[in-house]
Amino acid sequence: MDNCIFCKIIQGTIPSDRVYQSEDVVAFRDLNPQAPVHVLVVPKNHVPSLDDPRAADGKMLAAVMSGVQKLVKQLNLEKGYRVVANCGSDGGQTVEHIHFHLLGRRLMQWPPG
Ligand code: 5GP
Ligand code: ZN
Repeated sequence: MDNCIFCKIIQGTIPSDRVYQSEDVVAFRDLNPQAPVHVLVVPKNHVPSLDDPRAADGKMLAAVMSGVQKLVKQLNLEKGYRVVANCGSDGGQTVEHIHFHLLGRRLMQWPPG
């Protein structure tokens, strides 16, 4: 998608601090981190949100979870972490390209704000 910031990051036309990539996903550090470790795990295919039927694609979801599990080891999050996918305006989604926040190295609160 031409005007999608995450597609540009995936293509490399906008720089990012990339920490992981595979055939189907990339992961890079969030520009505005909400925890000492805050990485976005982003499928390479442009799917706008969790609401899209393509978000139920098993290969894509497996690639996300495989990336999360590798990043947990790589970034030393064995003590615990949180994975968040915001969807729509009530969910707090601001970038319309599906992504999963991986947050760690601090105690998380529940319920979230
Ligand atoms: P959302 O609010 O959609 O759940 O998450 C979008 C995230 O993308 C936010 O946490 C925001 O800080 C991050 N973000 C927005 N633009 C950029 C960017 O250009 N580079 C990086 N690394 N993160 C971004
Ligand atoms: Zn996109």
